[in-house]
Amino acid sequence: MSDIMERVVALTKRRGFIYPGSEIYGGLQATYDYGPMGVELKRLIKDDWWRDMVRDRENVVGLDASILMAAKVWEVSGHVGGFNDPMIDCKTCQGRFRADKLEQSKCLKKKKLSPLECGGDFTEPRQFNLMFSTKAGPVDDDAATVYLRPETAQGIFVNFKNVMDTARVKIPFGIAQVGKAFRNEIVTGGQIFRMREFEQMEMEFFCAPGSDEEWHEYWKAERLRWWRDLGVRAENIRMREHTPDELAHYARGCGDIEYKYPWGWDEVEGVANRTDYDLGKHQEGSGKGLAYRDDEKKEWVVPYVIEPSAGVDRCFLTILCDAYEEHEKPNGETRTVLHLHPRLAPVQVGVFPLVKKDGMPEKAEALYAELKKRFRCLYDKAGSIGKRYARLDEIGTPYCCTIDGDTATDGAVTVRHRDSLDQERVALDQVANYIADKMATWTR
Ligand code: ATP
Repeated sequence: MSDIMERVVALTKRRGFIYPGSEIYGGLQATYDYGPMGVELKRLIKDDWWRDMVRDRENVVGLDASILMAAKVWEVSGHVGGFNDPMIDCKTCQGRFRADKLEQSKCLKKKKLSPLECGGDFTEPRQFNLMFSTKAGPVDDDAATVYLRPETAQGIFVNFKNVMDTARVKIPFGIAQVGKAFRNEIVTGGQIFRMREFEQMEMEFFCAPGSDEEWHEYWKAERLRWWRDLGVRAENIRMREHTPDELAHYARGCGDIEYKYPWGWDEVEGVANRTDYDLGKHQEGSGKGLAYRDDEKKEWVVPYVIEPSAGVDRCFLTILCDAYEEHEKPNGETRTVLHLHPRLAPVQVGVFPLVKKDGMPEKAEALYAELKKRFRCLYDKAGSIGKRYARLDEIGTPYCCTIDGDTATDGAVTVRHRDSLDQERVALDQVANYIADKMATWTR
């Protein structure tokens, strides 16, 4: 792990964003739990995606399908036979690696070297299926096998007809879903970057064959816009088109949205043209019609599908990495700040009395009660003012209001800005509107 990544990970633990899973029992590799700050940020990310992809659009509806799905779904979709990664074993260090991601792995003996550099003795690659299976019901036989979904998309495809029949939608339209997915990854790492249990935000957009390439371009642009809207800096995010040999067998094109993580550029979202592959297969496999009536052509047509698919956890890590900054203070100490977009900040406004006397706590509590009606707020009266600012800088709080000795005479508070460190005096009855204005015009 690079130094900067280690410091981001340390901050996530120190400030209650992310804890290692099952930690008091020594941890369970590649599982992480979201703490009080983390659960807020994660929820805000998902809500923002849902607003942008569903609520603000006329032509996208939502869905929440089961995690456990019938084995047949995954046989027909090709996952039972083909959702594999190439795996190799090292006879020298006993490590097990993903053959196509060797540069991201480390030798178990020569821990600083990747398997490309350590000179180990490797087996030939063999295919390893990434799906977790389990048994449903009390009879433990093959017929009881079910799979934990490795992507949320199939839950959407198998409900395509239900939604068409009940939601008054017409091609072109989309179905969006946010939920857990599970993959028995051979190599995990980058903290929440690659885990075995994670969350996805996926939308399947159904359109007429022939219009698919135009829609693909549209969704690639829309998704990149969302990332920029969240405040992710342009120089750190890019769209990379798949080369023909990288494309999944069913895909006609795929653009990966990549972020410049501390270890280099890596995928955070894929925007794929999945053609009519999935619906076509499920129509064949289930015997149920999954076509729509094209009134002009006067025929039944299986739609093409454009899929923007983002990982919630990777999005979380991306936002943290992009927001993280260290400054050296004049006294030589380091100030760590998260420059989160105000709409993603778990705490948007901190309210403090400068000291715990002279009526300041009462005034601060009254202001806190007022501001809480409009913003996510935190009231803190303990410790030095510097420590209180430092703590809120590390959880990305953009504005702090301090009630001081002058408040009693001038009826104003000091508003301190996380990004510029400017401090301004604002009248108590104007603070809420002042902060709302600043939030609405915030840019990175
Ligand atoms: P990778 O090659 O990095 O394993 P992928 O191409 O297999 O990813 P997709 O199948 O396109 O990933 O999944 C869509 C999104 O889901 C990814 O862009 C990523 O954000 C997220 N994702 C996939 N696998 C994981 C994982 N193991 N842990 C966390 N997020 C994941």
